[in-house]
Amino acid sequence: MDMVIGGTAAQAADETWIDVTNPATGEHIDRVPRGTREDVNAAVEAADAAFGAWSEKTLRERGLFLYRAAELIRRDYKDLAKILTTEQGKPLRESTDEVRGCANILEYYASVAGQPAGEAVSLGKAGDCLVTRVPLGVCGAIIPWNMPVIIMGWKVGPALLAGNTLVLKPASATPLTNLKIALLLQEAGLPKGVLNVVTGPGETTGSALVQHPSIKKISFTGDCATGRRIREMAGSHIRALTLELGGSDPMIVMADADIEKAVDGAIRGRFYNAGQICTAVKRLYLHEKIAGEFMRLLTVKLEGLKIGNGLLPHTDMGPLNSSEQLNRIRATVDGTKEREEGTIRAGGCRITGPGFDQGFFYSPTLIADVAPDAAILRDEVFGPVLPVVTVPDLATAIREANRSKYGLGASVWTKDIGTVKQVYRDVHAGIIWVNRHLTVPPEVPFGGTEESGIGRENGSKALDSYTQSKTLYLGW
Ligand code: NDP
Repeated sequence: MDMVIGGTAAQAADETWIDVTNPATGEHIDRVPRGTREDVNAAVEAADAAFGAWSEKTLRERGLFLYRAAELIRRDYKDLAKILTTEQGKPLRESTDEVRGCANILEYYASVAGQPAGEAVSLGKAGDCLVTRVPLGVCGAIIPWNMPVIIMGWKVGPALLAGNTLVLKPASATPLTNLKIALLLQEAGLPKGVLNVVTGPGETTGSALVQHPSIKKISFTGDCATGRRIREMAGSHIRALTLELGGSDPMIVMADADIEKAVDGAIRGRFYNAGQICTAVKRLYLHEKIAGEFMRLLTVKLEGLKIGNGLLPHTDMGPLNSSEQLNRIRATVDGTKEREEGTIRAGGCRITGPGFDQGFFYSPTLIADVAPDAAILRDEVFGPVLPVVTVPDLATAIREANRSKYGLGASVWTKDIGTVKQVYRDVHAGIIWVNRHLTVPPEVPFGGTEESGIGRENGSKALDSYTQSKTLYLGW
């Protein structure tokens, strides 16, 4: 597939390509241009040229483009979901959820387009002020490979509604669905140059985008180390930065929890998308009174999960996205075993055999009796591996949950409002779920504290982050 620059299909200036691989079969399914600095420059110029007319449209007019694009995404959801599964690996059911989720986000931003932005401030006899929100200009979005479609929605929706134009760089492993959705936005009538997609390696194409002097904001989702590099690279031309980085979310299950519901929550929370989600359940803290029953039920359900090619019906969990991710997970689990930092209760190995050999499959893994200072609790583990720690009380659970450099999400499973209050107050995280985990609706802000990043996606907070205020002072 080609890139989309200034509303037209474009290949790399030096005519080089990147292969896209199906992680379930190891086959090359397509190729995209290996965009150069020249291509980034062309995309930013196209976005710059489109900015004036786009920013002058009314909010309602801009919202209508998003609404039409959401309709087209819904029209083509089956094709989009299939492409997403083929390049990313997740089961078709999850791809369908993700594609529809992207449409939901665009519709949400279209629906808030009529709401007044800004405020009026009266200073008494000194005058009155009118504070409006104006767009920043050309923004850059850098997308990861784990949830490329939802994350595209998180960035495109608020950026375009606020009146900015955008240059988006997909992950090299999953550029195809992003490109298809960009074409649907064109079909929805989006003026040329408002949304440009440049493919290419992060190290070159991505950093050229961050360093381009006309870029006013970068919104990035991905690894903490990359986020740090982007922060260092972002010069004084960048007026705003959203960094949605890693997480190591704790899930705390208290003795009064609905066990069956919590077990299902842990499975969905950890093994959805083969565990490759920033807010996945990455550490499970079980109250000792229910730990035995919980682990028995969890093991049975885990062993019932069907692993396979995401395109096959009934697949519950697909492969990891790449051989690099597979190797990282193998090294993490093997290291845990070698250092005797936990006991493998389920899984713990690569899946091989007919239908699996060429893909990047890893078994759903459960590790019990994990040492409190084990590496697997300290680092972000981006795969289907669930370490479990038994705790005697809530205070211990909270203390252990907070022993992390991350602060993205956390959940508590209980019927007791006092427990909820304590977890909400004391656990360091941007979002605390009660009796659920993972759900990220477009209406509410999403983002973390500590090393999980800066800024927020979703809701009015994200919309604000693509604007700056401008004040009119009326000295009567
Ligand atoms: P990266 O952070 O490298 O990739 C995310 C995006 O950033 C991709 O589009 C990538 O491009 C781009 N990128 C990479 N380097 C630069 C750069 N110097 N300047 C600008 N853009 C850049 O993540 P990885 O794919 O390497 O994954 C590594 C680990 O990161 C995972 O194991 C996981 O722990 C974590 N991760 C976390 C995510 C989250 O949602 N929190 C999402 C993805 C990964 P390209 O694809 O071309 O390299």
